[in-house]
Amino acid sequence: MKRMLLFIGWSLCAAVPLYLWSATMAAQGGEIALLDVAGLLGHLAYAFLFLQACVILAFPWTEPLLGTQSSYEIHEKFGLMALTALLSHGFLFVAVYGGLPRGFFLWPAHAAFFLLCLNLLLSYGAKAGVIGYHLWAETHKSAALIFPLFFLHGALIFRGSYSTPIAVYYGVLFLLFMILAICRLKRGERLKRHAHKILDIIKENHEVWTVVCEKKRFKYVPGQYAFIRTIHNGRISAPHPFSMTSQPREKNVAFTVKWVGDFSSTIHHLKPGDSLVIDGPYGQFSFLKYDSPEMVFIAGGIGITPLFSMLRYAHAVKSRHPILLLWGNKRKDDIIFRQELKQMTLDMERFKVVHILSREKSKRGERGHVDEERIKKYVEQPYRAHYFICGPAGLQKNTVRILKEMGVEEKRIHVEKFSVV
Ligand SMILES: Cc1cc2nc3c(=O)[nH]c(=O)nc-3n(C[C@H](O)[C@H](O)[C@H](O)COP(=O)(O)OP(=O)(O)OC[C@H]3O[C@@H](n4cnc5c(N)ncnc54)[C@H](O)[C@@H]3O)c2cc1C
Repeated sequence: MKRMLLFIGWSLCAAVPLYLWSATMAAQGGEIALLDVAGLLGHLAYAFLFLQACVILAFPWTEPLLGTQSSYEIHEKFGLMALTALLSHGFLFVAVYGGLPRGFFLWPAHAAFFLLCLNLLLSYGAKAGVIGYHLWAETHKSAALIFPLFFLHGALIFRGSYSTPIAVYYGVLFLLFMILAICRLKRGERLKRHAHKILDIIKENHEVWTVVCEKKRFKYVPGQYAFIRTIHNGRISAPHPFSMTSQPREKNVAFTVKWVGDFSSTIHHLKPGDSLVIDGPYGQFSFLKYDSPEMVFIAGGIGITPLFSMLRYAHAVKSRHPILLLWGNKRKDDIIFRQELKQMTLDMERFKVVHILSREKSKRGERGHVDEERIKKYVEQPYRAHYFICGPAGLQKNTVRILKEMGVEEKRIHVEKFSVV
């Protein structure tokens, strides 16, 4: 219901320029000229750019309704719609004037158009793996200028006629954009002021550490994630997404981090008493949302984290639900939470763990990767089970493909991506 209201709100927002334009055309009478259509396309582009910016600015409030992946997809789609409207807007002017009109008012529009094209190109490049994450993340900050630049273009065009309905519409959207931006900044400041004290840093293996911190009033469901920032020696890091590995009934909250780069390599330097800024919870990846005769968790390496929160929860509530964990790791030493898993198999009679190791020499146990053979061998009710998959992109893609080829319905397959592009 809330989701539907959100979509209605968005559609109305994009429909207003269409209505205002039609009303103006009807009042003027006569035929509609190409320039009028060009104007309408410009107004539509403005509405799409506003919506594109809002999906990200309002992320903390809209993500629980839309989900993380849908929010990013909607953001991308509004960007493409804005680009199409802007291109058509420009082409119509060229068609009428034989070139673009000149004037200072065009510079902000050119800049906005350039930034939109650049950001879309880099985003697709990052998705395809051609452009590195950091180059994408740094350049994507420039996208924050696109909507204000387009507003400036409109403000320069409407000079002297700020009371017309369409000028008021431009003003209202810009005001809403500014209010959202301020709310988001204030939220960031509030989260920093209420940072969570770190209580413990636990070494899980040679490359994985768990940060345990006070919970305060942080509420979440097992399987969700949060953006965390560390405050160490007075310095605050950039936000990075991590799944909670604790379960909601615990008195503390925990994140388990694998050393992969700049940020994750600093985790083991943290000390009890340092602070963690937690922005969340986010995500829809939780078994609590589904009723199923069997839950199948498929993890690759550190992809165990959201699934482990669910397992801890199932253990805490003494679940009698059949749960199967198929967990792929390279070697035995990579397996974290070993003792706790053993205890869970003892306490939950319908819980089973199968370790699949790809680089272990000994022949004991399953070797290789999670594949169709293993799924068919261990899953009792393959077509009635719900599957929760988290791990490297390759494992996710392969497992989803295998399940679909086996004929498992799409609605039974749930994936958590450890990537934001
Ligand atoms: C929803 C979600 C949940 C996650 N949960 C866990 C978890 O429980 N445990 C765990 O070890 N890892 C988790 N990750 C992955 C984790 O966020 C990255 O490994 C981490 O941000 C890497 O940062 P880095 O600077 O150490 O490494 P880098 O070498 O700088 O980056 C490695 C890769 O991590 C991603 N990344 C880097 N910085 C960011 C950022 N600021 N925001 C988003 N992605 C970034 C990029 O894809 C990049 O290519 C999760 C990711 C997502 C999206």
